[in-house]
Amino acid sequence: MLQTIVKQAPKQTIKVLAIAMMVAGVTACNDDDSETIITPVITYGEYGTDTALTLARDYSGRYMGSSTELAAAQYMKQRMTFGDNGNEVILEPFTFVASRGPFADQTINSQNVVVTHKGTENTGRILYVGAHYDSATQYPNYIDLEGLDDNASGSGVLSELVYHFNGVNTADTIKFVAFGSEEGGLQGSKAFVESLSQDEIDNAIGMINLDSLLTGDNMYANAGDNSYDDDGNEIAANVKLREAALRIANELNLGLQVNPAIIPPGADEPYKPLGVGCCSDQESFDSIMPVVAFEATNWSLGPDFDGYTQTDNPDIPGGYSWHNPDVDNEAVLTQALGEERIKQRMSSFARIVTELIAEQVQAESIR
Ligand SMILES: [Zn+2]
Repeated sequence: MLQTIVKQAPKQTIKVLAIAMMVAGVTACNDDDSETIITPVITYGEYGTDTALTLARDYSGRYMGSSTELAAAQYMKQRMTFGDNGNEVILEPFTFVASRGPFADQTINSQNVVVTHKGTENTGRILYVGAHYDSATQYPNYIDLEGLDDNASGSGVLSELVYHFNGVNTADTIKFVAFGSEEGGLQGSKAFVESLSQDEIDNAIGMINLDSLLTGDNMYANAGDNSYDDDGNEIAANVKLREAALRIANELNLGLQVNPAIIPPGADEPYKPLGVGCCSDQESFDSIMPVVAFEATNWSLGPDFDGYTQTDNPDIPGGYSWHNPDVDNEAVLTQALGEERIKQRMSSFARIVTELIAEQVQAESIR
């Protein structure tokens, strides 16, 4: 469900990229004398990979309140701004007092980057799509943390999603948000949710989150803590985004799983119920709207089966990369996971989420 834009172009302009059209599923090629071109549609994963690698390479240590975090926000703004499509792209500043870590009790200045893709139909309905672009401060050498997995990967896909919907008519509005200071306790998403009016909350379609898409063995889509009622029955309306994502991934032949809710030995219950995820910006939204959290990890690994053990890859000691500057970087992850992993993951998540967004906001179908 991807639309390309037809534009008049001078004769010397490069014509349609056939391979891009194949990727986009475009079947008709206008080859008359009008020199019509179709804006080249990038291969899924390319734009996101560029964004992710640049964040890791040039904006390491983009921790809450730092000048690098601000520079990374400006970079994300640049990556989410496209020509004359009319999207509004703004930096929204916010402040908070850090409750933990090296900046405990200090007032932190941070910012979200918000892209508003206006719907054409005045439905009032808004879909929120987010990923945090900041990096963590848990390890002493956090200034060196590239955060390629957590969360340049999700930020990369976010930027690519904006690209894919650039110029595409959608009935409903999409707000793409790159959150600051997630690692300081979901601060960017909390500030964003606090800014929503009651009307915006009442008309929300839901929230899609992207966090840590690279290191983990498996791709997941999990719903939020609002998935079950007090009797333990699933609430269909609150898991609709997850269910749609699973159907789309199945149609695309891309393996997408849910938290299998394994109960650790000696415990009474799983860390989170079946199909429920945790621990990122979707949590700021899930008491007020349906959410789906995309991530890569391995919920079938112990000891706690809590999603924090990402992989059984022996080249990743301890089974996780998050927050560790010695592991969550391009050199180590490329060595451990192979050169192709990042593009594969960026591509898979971008394809699934592009389709998901297109359905939810009633995007104009392509020719
Ligand atoms: Zn993260």
